[in-house]
Amino acid sequence: ELNLTTAWRDPEVARGLLARIERAVAGYRGEMTLMEVCGTHTMAIYQHGIRALLPEAIRLISGPGCPVCVTPVDYVDHAVALARRPDTIIATFGDMVRVPGSSSSLLHEQARGAQIRVVYSPLDAVALAARNPDKQVVFLGVGFETTTPTVAGAILAAEKQGLTNFSVLGSHKTMPAPMAALTNDPELQVDGYLCPAHVSTIIGVNAYRPLVEQCRVPCVVTGFEPLDMLRGIEMLARQVIEGRAEVENEYSRVVKPDGNPKARRILETVFEPCDATWRGIGIIPDSGLKIRAEYADYDAIRKLPVNVEKPVEHTGCQCGEILKGKVRPGDCPLFRTACTPENPVGACMVSSEGTCAAEYKYGC
Ligand code: SF4
Repeated sequence: ELNLTTAWRDPEVARGLLARIERAVAGYRGEMTLMEVCGTHTMAIYQHGIRALLPEAIRLISGPGCPVCVTPVDYVDHAVALARRPDTIIATFGDMVRVPGSSSSLLHEQARGAQIRVVYSPLDAVALAARNPDKQVVFLGVGFETTTPTVAGAILAAEKQGLTNFSVLGSHKTMPAPMAALTNDPELQVDGYLCPAHVSTIIGVNAYRPLVEQCRVPCVVTGFEPLDMLRGIEMLARQVIEGRAEVENEYSRVVKPDGNPKARRILETVFEPCDATWRGIGIIPDSGLKIRAEYADYDAIRKLPVNVEKPVEHTGCQCGEILKGKVRPGDCPLFRTACTPENPVGACMVSSEGTCAAEYKYGC
């Protein structure tokens, strides 16, 4: 019997799973398109060469699961405007520093003297605020349900410490709303989703049931190891072939039906649902989280008004289409020429979870 908790990378088991996938799709007419929604899945697929191992009947495409990549350009412009305030320190995870805005980036602003600090957790930003009482410390809150509870915890910690100089510029997104938007896109055919693992540890398997029931699209919550991925692909392919649309859980050793209610309670204490703009997709109703009015003192948008320039997308960058799985990085004329990890034109080349960065590093 397959023991995925001890054999995640066993080549023999991988060969067995690939044979099972081959047998499952033998006789399937046409091509099924399966989307991995999570940026970590995208990296794993490229890193382990999984796409090349699959039968021709299965086409894998990448989706909008990289939080830095889906953050719209006007958010970067807003962060740049805040960074230009002389009394402000921007605290952020590393990837955001290099994402190009309309006319600048945080890296450029840092070179011009702005105070940008890379932190490893939102609580590091709270500690930074405590050490710099004469500065406003703004943490860039970018991410999905995996990171938002930690941002909520940081706001609660700042409140407990009586800090008045800590706030969050939020661009928090949620699943599975964009999956429904992509399923309903008439220009896109997605036959099934490999659902994100980290996000699902918080929201749980049951969060996908409305999507499955309303859109009749198969979903499999899948882990990150190569064997997890192959097993998830097999489960998804079987649903497609058998005409089923269910939520299945390949990653049951970690993801529970109801996820992590405690983390969600912390999140819901500080945040409430809102419409959100996704790069390439546009506004999706109820796909984001904003800081509740009770915590307005920790909301940089309300607390520190700034003039933000009119957003301008970079000509030629196809991040938006890549995030919808409509084109591959190699289809972009800037890939490997004008756009490289050293000089990224778009967010998909900046982020360590971006599809363009993955293809640049590992090839197709
Ligand atoms: Fe944008 Fe660069 Fe990717 Fe092209 S290769 S889509 S310019 S990030």
